[in-house]
Amino acid sequence: MSSSLKNSLAKIRPVIKKIHAYHVPDSEGLIKLDAMENPYQLPDDLKNKLQASLATAALNRYPDPSAKSLRDKLQVVMQVPGDKSIVLGNGSDELIQMLAMAIADHGADGHGSDKSQNKKDVCLMSFDPGFVMYKMISDFVGIDYVGVPLQNDFSLDMEVTRKAIEKYQPEMIFIAYPNNPSANCYNEKEIEEIILSAPGMVVLDEAYHPFAQKSFMNRLAEFENLLVMRTVSKMGLAGLRLGLLCGHPEIIAEIDKVRLPYNINVLTQVAAEFVLDNISVLDEQAEKIRDEREVLLAAMNAISGLEVFPSEANFILFRVLGKDASEVFESIKSSGVLIKNMKADEGLLENCLRVTVGTPDENKAFISALSSAMKNQS
Ligand code: PMP
Repeated sequence: MSSSLKNSLAKIRPVIKKIHAYHVPDSEGLIKLDAMENPYQLPDDLKNKLQASLATAALNRYPDPSAKSLRDKLQVVMQVPGDKSIVLGNGSDELIQMLAMAIADHGADGHGSDKSQNKKDVCLMSFDPGFVMYKMISDFVGIDYVGVPLQNDFSLDMEVTRKAIEKYQPEMIFIAYPNNPSANCYNEKEIEEIILSAPGMVVLDEAYHPFAQKSFMNRLAEFENLLVMRTVSKMGLAGLRLGLLCGHPEIIAEIDKVRLPYNINVLTQVAAEFVLDNISVLDEQAEKIRDEREVLLAAMNAISGLEVFPSEANFILFRVLGKDASEVFESIKSSGVLIKNMKADEGLLENCLRVTVGTPDENKAFISALSSAMKNQS
């Protein structure tokens, strides 16, 4: 290794070097049930119309920097209260990053809080096991992440949560509703208590709203420290990369300052507006997925040797009992179905796998692969 390369690598922060890059497995040739995508495409007639509207997009121009027309449509379709504002992200992942950057305070030297002024470390809090990006992005921007452990049934442990809020005084708390990877919605009253006792902002991450149909969106007026985040990814538009954050205009205006100009590209703006004008198609697809989730849950519950957790999302978490989950995962993969291996040897996700609800045929292929995997293992 040359000394210039060595010196360059030495400049990378240790916390970044320790991170395992977010790994997206190769799914070529496999039935893809690993990433909570909607398995359905738009019907052909809508695809053709979409193609025509994309052809009118001015690719030679920068996009509308604030995507005003798209935000106006989202305000109506997502039932965002009229007096609340919206900021858009390149996926909700980017919104999480913007939120974290807005609270990160590295002091004058740019390396951690300025201890000379006795400032507390900036803290982003969430619940574990939870969505991995909350911690990863905290590491990216150099703030502390505190993951409050959930109970064995993945519900909130309010006693531990109260103590953690008291101790860490988090600038921001993320609550995934429903949670990923456990697929449950936390108790509404407990969430209210967290919002009321939080010393800072609370972000309700409602990525799976189409499948849970529960929301805090209509309660934004009650809690001025509450922000509600949604995405179009799970609704059937994961390829567009579009997320929205809704809340008090004064908070949204501050978050908007961190947003890079033109973060929502021209094609995404045109395509999203087009699909929002035809939202009933996605609503019907979400309904099919909700129905199919129940079929899948019943089929999985009928297989012995599994602990299947309830789901209010478009995926199901399950534990393999008395066998090695990684071997079951590989066996399912060799039958042509890719799901997600949670790869935990201990803790709440011990020996757990996660499957996304697909089309009826995809789900049947998964059930058959899972059944034979469970029979084959010793
Ligand atoms: N929040 C949660 C809880 C998620 O599970 C995901 C994606 N897996 C996201 C946010 C990010 O979604 P996107 O960036 O596609 O909008």
